[in-house]
Amino acid sequence: MDISNRIQAVTGGGSGGWDLFLRARDMAEAGKPVVELTIGEHDIRTDPQILDAMHDAALGGHTGYAAIPGTDGLRKAIARRVSARTGVPTTPENVMVTPGGQAALFAAHVAVLDAGDKALYCDPYYATYPGTIRGAGGQDIPVPTRPEHAFQPQASDIEAILAANGGAKSILVNTPNNPTGVVYDRDALDGIAKVAKDHDLWVISDEVYDTQIWAGDHVSLRALPGMEERTLVVGSMSKSHAMTGSRIGWLIAPENVVDYLVTLATHTTYGVAGFVQDAALFALQQGEVLEVEIAAPFRRRRDIALKILQGQNALRLIPASGAMYVMLDIRA
Ligand code: PMP
Repeated sequence: MDISNRIQAVTGGGSGGWDLFLRARDMAEAGKPVVELTIGEHDIRTDPQILDAMHDAALGGHTGYAAIPGTDGLRKAIARRVSARTGVPTTPENVMVTPGGQAALFAAHVAVLDAGDKALYCDPYYATYPGTIRGAGGQDIPVPTRPEHAFQPQASDIEAILAANGGAKSILVNTPNNPTGVVYDRDALDGIAKVAKDHDLWVISDEVYDTQIWAGDHVSLRALPGMEERTLVVGSMSKSHAMTGSRIGWLIAPENVVDYLVTLATHTTYGVAGFVQDAALFALQQGEVLEVEIAAPFRRRRDIALKILQGQNALRLIPASGAMYVMLDIRA
């Protein structure tokens, strides 16, 4: 029987960049000592208080189908958080709760792409990006960011890719960035916003590392003038609250887009477990203290890595300003 071209194209028959990770997992399972530096996973577990909240919610009966857009309480808490962190007034109707940021990335592309539409993304990129775009039916087109610009995207590079491809429908950006650790500065974001407005692009802004900032400020693209109506922001509890396995995140979008996302979720995920949503609400209600505590080991290790690596003469590194990563230039 034929398998659809669309699903075969997700990784084109390869692993989609996961070979090393899969090999490391196999080695670990075979009992070999492995230090895993492949994925954005904490070495701490979810805080027991959050698990207690999850347990209480489940025993309290929140085990049936939950509200598909997300519970009222959680959507309100996310809207408040986004309003406070970005200054953009955000209502619960702008919030779609999803099973993790990855599901939000996919839903965002399904929402804006028709079959064959061109979808840009900044390179280097998180490994799932091209496959997510192809899974949503789009044509994935990388926009290079370069070490000589400290991996800050340049409007001129985006313009050149648009000209070479006869335009595009969307651009996916990720700041703080996996894998470079770069936080996009105001100039880079202004440049992206200008190109998006000039060429009528949707912007999908992956901000799942927004609580891990080591230098400079994180600015959400949705907060720039004229961007709210064309920007979909991906958020997640995975990195901020060490809840990677709970699969809970969100998409912030204009209300009419959220209406369609609810329809999509009704026909795909059918929402997120109610007890997981209650645990996420509890976690958000703890405020910044918990987030700072979870981010702290990454800040400490980043500082140690910079100290050691800055003294090397064959390796160059872009000092990570955020997220869990440092990018090494080993060309020399
Ligand atoms: N975006 C980026 C940049 C990531 O690094 C990850 C996870 N590694 C995700 C999205 C997805 O995270 P999750 O689905 O766990 O929220």
